[in-house]
Amino acid sequence: MRFDADFRLTIGGALEPGTGRMAVIDPATGAPFAEAPEADLRDLDRAVAAARAAFPGWAALPHGERAARLVALAAAVEGHGDALATLLTREQGKPLAEARREVTGLAAWLRAAAGMEVPVTVHEDTPARYCETRRVPIGVIAAIAPWNYPLLLAAFKLGPALVAGNAVVLKPSPFTPLATLKLGELARGILPPGVLNVVSGGDALGPWLTEHPGIDKIAFTGSTATGRRVMASAAATLKRLTLELGGNDPAIVMHDVDVPTLASELFRASFGNAGQVCLATKRLYVHAAVYDAVRDALVACAEAAVVGSGLDPATTIGPISNRIQYERLVELIAECRAAGHRFACGGTVPPGPGYFLPPAIIDNPPEDSRIVQEEQFGPILPLLRFDDYDAVIARANAGPYRLGATIWAGDAEAGRALGARLAAGNVWVNESRPLSPLVPFAGHGQSGFGVENGLEGLLEYTLARTSSVRRHPPG
Ligand code: NAD
Repeated sequence: MRFDADFRLTIGGALEPGTGRMAVIDPATGAPFAEAPEADLRDLDRAVAAARAAFPGWAALPHGERAARLVALAAAVEGHGDALATLLTREQGKPLAEARREVTGLAAWLRAAAGMEVPVTVHEDTPARYCETRRVPIGVIAAIAPWNYPLLLAAFKLGPALVAGNAVVLKPSPFTPLATLKLGELARGILPPGVLNVVSGGDALGPWLTEHPGIDKIAFTGSTATGRRVMASAAATLKRLTLELGGNDPAIVMHDVDVPTLASELFRASFGNAGQVCLATKRLYVHAAVYDAVRDALVACAEAAVVGSGLDPATTIGPISNRIQYERLVELIAECRAAGHRFACGGTVPPGPGYFLPPAIIDNPPEDSRIVQEEQFGPILPLLRFDDYDAVIARANAGPYRLGATIWAGDAEAGRALGARLAAGNVWVNESRPLSPLVPFAGHGQSGFGVENGLEGLLEYTLARTSSVRRHPPG
């Protein structure tokens, strides 16, 4: 396949121009660099109809056949890895090395899903009776991804949805549609027509999709506010739901850590992907015994970071991914300054045109400040001093989110014991977001609903179907 700059919807195995066109902005320049198709409601209707038509045949294929197609798609992704990564960097902003890791992740997630099989549970197998529960596919899945990891978060949904026998309509964010549209293009000829449809569009497309009567399940990753709207629109037709939503992850640095060896990991946990990670450390609680040393080491990391275009190999932190998020963060910085918070570094806004923000570290702001209480989703980290472990657990567990939480400890066992007291779906000790396609990942509270990855994530794309047979007919 020629990997050109012509971007099309994939509907029923055909490439379509879409009814309208929308500009895609390069966040490193603030200027449009490509056009994506803008699907209207009729385009969406045809995508859903194509998925519905493809579903029975795909579901009827032997599992091994579906798995083989996913492995072939993973190979096609790898075969176009450089082109996909470059496109991702252009539209999303992340450094090319990070974009390459995301593309590798997409292929790895597809392969891992292909290796998973849905179990059958036999409850009774006696001369009198046979009773089993099988899992059957749900039907047509609406997969909706955000702009921070367009390909990886699509992969979390596509792999298990497809291997379980569902058809999919995938919708990327309007800010980052391009690499996902190319994924749809790559899938043509590998997946039967209509099994994977990719539609891009404006702000109306998401609600059209989640309200659509032809959709059986919505798998959504995005903000908590949008997640609530998605859940409401699912109610009318009782669509099944998986929601992976926002987070305001705390991390606790214990008194006995080795600061010099820890610093770069702490920095990456908060500033990787310019802080635009659902599972980034967004509040860093540091024991008073090491607070000054941690702050100074993080400031040194921030000063060594190279902020620039993701296409420049020297860059370690790319631009903020879109103007809306950039303006939110610029306003948050201004608010922190107006509130008198002390910036240990950063807090300046370079002149445009790109959406660049150097990493900022805020030195011990009040616990009730907005930068501590809300999800910033950008390269601004509040550092918070503590000296009492009971009190810091209460601070870390406060707030509505329950996504991830991390303990950094010199004594890993003491870290594990402290971590057991944290309220979150994912708790790590001495490592940050070690995600795997084989390990369940769930947000609790306002961070989500359901599970992605692992066997539990796969089962979310199935329905339980129990059948029993009385072996001796009555009479
Ligand atoms: P967003 O909620 O604005 O958008 C996410 C997706 O939903 C986009 O494709 C968007 O077009 C679509 N959408 C918007 N309104 C919709 C509606 N009413 N109905 C249906 N779809 C709609 O989120 P974002 O700004 O793209 O992403 C950032 C947020 O995502 C952050 O809060 C972050 O924490 C969260 N996130 C969570 C996870 C996780 O796994 N928990 C992972 C990544 C990002």
